[in-house]
Formats: sequence, C-alpha cells, structure tokens
Amino acid sequence: MAWWKRSQSTSPEAVRADLPLIRLEHVTKIFRTGDPAEPETRALDDVTVDIGHGEYVAVSGPSGCGKSTFLSLLGLLDSPSSGHYWLSGRRVDALTASERARVRSVEIGLVFQSFNLIGDMTVYENVEYPLTLKNVAGDARKARVEQALTRVGLAARAKQRPGQLSGGHQQLVAIARAMAGRPPIVLADEPTGNLDSRSGEIVMEMLAELHRDGATICLASHDPRYVSQARRHVYLLDGRVVTEPSNS
Ligand code: ADP
Ligand code: MG
Repeated sequence: MAWWKRSQSTSPEAVRADLPLIRLEHVTKIFRTGDPAEPETRALDDVTVDIGHGEYVAVSGPSGCGKSTFLSLLGLLDSPSSGHYWLSGRRVDALTASERARVRSVEIGLVFQSFNLIGDMTVYENVEYPLTLKNVAGDARKARVEQALTRVGLAARAKQRPGQLSGGHQQLVAIARAMAGRPPIVLADEPTGNLDSRSGEIVMEMLAELHRDGATICLASHDPRYVSQARRHVYLLDGRVVTEPSNS
C-alpha cells in the first residue's frame, strides 16, 4: 500500500467517505470576554447536524439563538470550542486559519453582512476572485463577473471598494460572487436583512437558482416568506437544535 494511503487510514483525520457533505458532531461554541467575573456565552451547545449534498436548509430561531455562530462555523470563519466538523468527509475543525481560508475560498460561498468581502479589492475583483482561484479563463471570467454584477444591479459600482458600499450592497456583491463562482456550498446569513424587497427577491431567486444547479444552501433568516423556500428547517433555541420537523 502506498505510504500516503497507509498514513491516511491510520490517522484520526482520515477521509471518511461514508459521511454526508457536512457533519457537525457535538459542536459547542463558547464565547468568553476574558473577564472571569462575566458569564461565558454558550452560543452553540452540543449541536449535531448532518447536511447532505444538494440540500436547502433554513436555520431559524429568535435573535441570539446561535444562527450566525452556526453559519460562521460551517463557513470556517471560526472553530468550535469542542466537537468535530467534517466537510466532505474530512475533519476541518482543527485547521489553521490559513488552511480554513483556503478551503473556504474554493468550497464555500458566504453571503454575510460582515467578514465576507476582501476590503482592498474592488467589487469586480471580489466577484472575480473565486474564478481566479479556479483558473477560469480570462474571457469566460469577465463574462461571468459582469453578468453576476448586472443581475444584482451593481455593474456601475464595479470599481468601488466594499467599504464604500452599504451593508445591503455588500450582501448583493457576495451573492454575485457566489453566482459567478458557483461554490458547492452557499451559506447566507440574513441575506435579505438590509435590502429593499425587490433586491431581497433577487437574492432569493439567485439562491434558488444556485440550489437548482446543485449547490447545497444553508440560509439563516427571520423572514417566513423566505424561509419557506427551504426544503428543511433547523430550529435553534439557546444554541441547541430544538426540533426538526419532517420536510413539508
Ligand atoms: P443569532 O445570529 O441567532 O442572532 P448569534 O450566533 O449571533 O445569534 O449569537 C449567539 C449568542 O452568542 C448571543 O448570545 C451572542 O451575544 C453571542 N455571541 C455571538 N458572537 C459573539 C462573539 N464574537 N463574542 C461574544 N459573544 C458572541
Ligand atoms: Mg445572526
């Protein structure tokens, strides 16, 4: 047996082909302020969830229940305090920040209000970035970036930097980036939150289209009109998955 196969099969971080696309196993995330007098926040508490290829999952629950923390962990923006995260059968909870960034830029499209765009790149370059990483040829890349920016109504802002845009417009840039880059996983945190209703509808249409084309979508939202687009619902309360009714 080749040395790398042998080392994989004996390593605790061996690739496990039997797992779904995403598995969180007893994941807890605790935030501490550093002041021992202040209580810690258990933002996620023993969460175990499997998400399969091509699912469209809505995560809901009251403000502060852990939705953003859940998506940040799925999106490798942060690591769990304990528990394991398997992505495509590979343990990713213990990766370094730079390894996480590498996995994220290829596998995951983030539609978040913060943490998601590169501040010193223009809007155009942000949308183009995943295509550059995937070596998409110049002409095709330009066409995909322009089409995506036109779709969200931001073609005229291609040369601006994210810091010059409102939070809502930044989310539109992030969905344009997902549309152009077609990552296998798209995580959207309140993606319609700061948008007028027409822009909100465009974002939801784009998520539906990405899902139709095979992407796995995980959406956190308060808005029942939008949550109903998902096929599966995960409810959080105080950092725990409370119920998961069967698909309707
Ligand atoms: P939601 O998105 O459902 O509103 P969050 O995941 O943002 O909930 O927050 C869950 C809990 O964790 C809240 O009590 C919040 O105050 C706390 N929290 C989230 N992020 C941090 C952080 N970076 N530092 C400290 N506490 C945090
Ligand atoms: Mg939130």
